[in-house]
Amino acid sequence: MKIILVTGGAGFIGSHLCERLVARGDTVICLDNLLTGSQKNIAHLMSKRNFFFFNHDVTKPFVSRKFAKIDEIYHLASPADPNVNSPFSYMAHPFETMKVNTIGTWNMCEIAYKFKAKLSFASTSEIYGDPEVSPQSENYRGNVSTIGPRSVYDESKRFGETIVAAFVSKKDLEGRITRIFNTYGPRMNVNEGRAVVNFIKQALTQKPITIFGDGKQTRSFCYIDDQVEGQILAMEKGKPGEVFNIGNDDERTILEFAKIIKQMTRSQSKITFSQRLPEDDPHQRRPDINKAKKVLQWKPKTSLEEGLFKTINYFKEIL
Ligand code: NAD
Ligand code: UDP
Repeated sequence: MKIILVTGGAGFIGSHLCERLVARGDTVICLDNLLTGSQKNIAHLMSKRNFFFFNHDVTKPFVSRKFAKIDEIYHLASPADPNVNSPFSYMAHPFETMKVNTIGTWNMCEIAYKFKAKLSFASTSEIYGDPEVSPQSENYRGNVSTIGPRSVYDESKRFGETIVAAFVSKKDLEGRITRIFNTYGPRMNVNEGRAVVNFIKQALTQKPITIFGDGKQTRSFCYIDDQVEGQILAMEKGKPGEVFNIGNDDERTILEFAKIIKQMTRSQSKITFSQRLPEDDPHQRRPDINKAKKVLQWKPKTSLEEGLFKTINYFKEIL
């Protein structure tokens, strides 16, 4: 039985990860300041004897006498929603986003170093920016603006990766990095602005499905259960300093994606287009997952239709 610290554990991905770790018998310490997450996501875990929640900002030092050791740290804390109009986006929280991915990552590396714990840093496909190559493999260095609207997220994740890499090379930290590609599923925040949530909500309420630009931009969507499996395998099988793309390589245009949701919800919603893409919105995104397949023996198992079916049912219940 391990003692595992999960930052951002009350968020979408973090809560599913905590659930899996608690179910297999590990002791889970969840640190979350509820900036974009919610205690509702972990309500079902609060009564478990092996789950401990601390309302804590990881940019501040974390001290607890309760735990004599920590074996693993999953550092997932960070806003992740890119929509400029959403109150939950990293654009709505630029300073918090920069701090959690830099100071927060540094703090987690210090804790991992002190306890000789393994660390996994949740980075993002956004570090590739608007990629000039497709698919994106781990050794692609990206095409990112340092000052554009997405830079508070992209560049702080990039520096977060650098912090982990320096702790690995200079202090022998057992750290690894996962680059998470668009992930979806139950417990996504219903009020945020990501495409999956917006399109399902719009389709179920018969409102126009709002495509930004002409819908020819692509994304590859990964179901949450596959993402969590990838996260755990990267921690268990990844060697210090390694980087893994974790995502689904089933690439679709956003228009195709909107049409699938419209059809699956049997919605009468119109699909509308805006004149152009938001600034720096990546035109294409598809992970090269050969490394994760080979080293972690991981690959996504859930088809887009199967994952969307479960996600749509979740939103039907809560809307
Ligand atoms: P989320 O917003 O649902 O979860 C993030 C959690 O971090 C929230 O519960 C939030 O309250 C918490 N948090 C933020 N700042 C904090 C701080 N200073 N101290 C403590 N807690 C803090 O987002 P998510 O989709 O679950 O994303 C989780 C991680 O995965 C993030 O690091 C994100 O960058 C990364 N990621 C997610 C996706 C995706 O498609 N969901 C894609 C790429 C990367
Ligand atoms: N998008 C859209 N309509 C929406 C929300 C998003 O057309 O209501 C587009 C967005 O511009 C991007 C893609 O869908 O091209 C995926 O956006 P999302 O916010 O889910 O995440 P991203 O991959 O951009 O981080």
